[in-house]
Amino acid sequence: MFWNEKMETLKGQELKDLQLKRLKATIKQTQNIGFYKQMFKEAGITPDDIKTLDDITKIPFTKKSDLRGGYPFGFLAVPMNQINRIHTTSGTTGKPTVVAYTKNDLAAWTELLARNFTMVGLKAGDIFQNAANYSLFTGGLGIHMGAEAIGCAVVPSGVGNTKRQIEMIQDFGVTALHCTPSYAMHLTEVAEEMNADLSSLKVGCFGAEAWSDNTRRDLENRLGVKAYDSYGMSELFGPGVAFECQEQNGLHIWHDSYLVEIIDPKTGETLEAGEKGELVVTPLVKEAMPLLRYRTGDITMLMEDECPCGRGPKLARFFGRSDDMLTIRGINVFPSQIEHVLKNIPDVGDQFMVYIDRINHLDEMTIEVEMSKSVFSGELADLSRLQAKIMKALQETLTIRARVELKEPGSLPRFEGKAKRVIDRRTV
Ligand SMILES: [Zn+2]
Repeated sequence: MFWNEKMETLKGQELKDLQLKRLKATIKQTQNIGFYKQMFKEAGITPDDIKTLDDITKIPFTKKSDLRGGYPFGFLAVPMNQINRIHTTSGTTGKPTVVAYTKNDLAAWTELLARNFTMVGLKAGDIFQNAANYSLFTGGLGIHMGAEAIGCAVVPSGVGNTKRQIEMIQDFGVTALHCTPSYAMHLTEVAEEMNADLSSLKVGCFGAEAWSDNTRRDLENRLGVKAYDSYGMSELFGPGVAFECQEQNGLHIWHDSYLVEIIDPKTGETLEAGEKGELVVTPLVKEAMPLLRYRTGDITMLMEDECPCGRGPKLARFFGRSDDMLTIRGINVFPSQIEHVLKNIPDVGDQFMVYIDRINHLDEMTIEVEMSKSVFSGELADLSRLQAKIMKALQETLTIRARVELKEPGSLPRFEGKAKRVIDRRTV
């Protein structure tokens, strides 16, 4: 099922022609922004120097810190009387940045979300509960607009009050749920405690955090949904930039609306399909806040194989953020790797926390892991066996030693928004 079959399946020269036309228009639009005018001047280029898609590498990258420097409205390419909505980024990695939208921007964003939800089989008749933060976070209103556009009955439940959320799923017969994967996991635990029947649910759309295939299997088994990965960021409109299709093997990014590059995060060099690196995106249909070669900080790769659904090249599921990446004793570790290891060990609960310290000039990683209820009430010898097993599995995957502390079920923090599982206590 397609929402816009022509655009979703556009490939080859026809796609390239459209991308180039839109790239040129986007570059023109950026010249209303002081930052970009200056950038072109300093790089010794003019908009006319960009004659092909490959010429994009002549343009320097735009970084999140650049956007912060323009706070609040330094990156607007249109006057305020054309702005229709203002959001801010979630501020996961520091001070929030402002993002703004014209009427056309809101329509373009809604269209991309409508494509995503249609792609996973949602349509009029579905009851869609959006358990995302509705304030400045784009996952609230953004997702809401997309689900409404395809005719779903949208329940804007927001975050928190988990018991009430579960009652609504039951009472309304909710068929689709959107939230962060960590909140979905929390909601699952609470529903199990309440012995709630969530059998009306069919589809789960989970995003705003990197999550593993093991978490997917867990959520699918326990919630009875097909769980889809959703990717986006406020600077690129919000959620809906890329989304899994029913194959559940990589995320389709909308190539008519986003020009994709994968780069080596250290050197900035362009990488080929199949090589893991940082996602760099030039949005092609943004009016209020056009961006060029925006460094997302997210690590993925372009997949080489074609998807049976007929849409364009996919991004691999995200490996984490380049700034989530921990360097411990010189070795790169992503929290998603730790999650993956823990999920594969029976008797380990759903929650964990990672602490990094520097003790006597050496990095030490401590991982607190919640046990399942059954192992917690069992023998002490079982606990030390479990602890040893976790340490061995972590060492095999991460190639470094981590201290493991077992914690009582329910004792570690739960997250309703984005999970913050890593506390780096090292001082430089
Ligand atoms: Zn597909």
